[in-house]
Amino acid sequence: MFKCSCLCGDVEFKIRANPSQAINCHCRYCRKSHGAPYVTVLVVLPENYEITKGTEKLCRLPSDKEKTGRYICSSCGSKLFTETAPGLPISVHASALVNEDLVKAMAHTNVGSKCPTVVIQDELPQFDGSITKEDYMELVV
Ligand SMILES: [Zn+2]
Ligand SMILES: [Zn+2]
Repeated sequence: MFKCSCLCGDVEFKIRANPSQAINCHCRYCRKSHGAPYVTVLVVLPENYEITKGTEKLCRLPSDKEKTGRYICSSCGSKLFTETAPGLPISVHASALVNEDLVKAMAHTNVGSKCPTVVIQDELPQFDGSITKEDYMELVV
């Protein structure tokens, strides 16, 4: 289990995931909501995360898709995780990990809509759109 927290420490949660299986998402939604050229996320199964502190401080903002949302700390505004769809894995923002140094990206997704000024200079696999469950399973095997 890896410990995660927001910037101010009001919210803490734990995830079971492999931090070297992160994904750099270049979609417009991630860029806009984070104010960043792309966002590194960990794909975590819904049963593999647990809020350990500050549930009452978690604020759910509706996402662009119905029935999904992104969760931020209402005290400091840190983006913590995003629901992809009910029952499907959640995207935990790598910046939430206390041991952020363990995080390694294994692919770039939504490269088709990336920020025009970003030049990808590594050899990681690139996906034009979102990564499918099949693509993901192939990468993690
Ligand atoms: Zn906070
Ligand atoms: Zn994205």
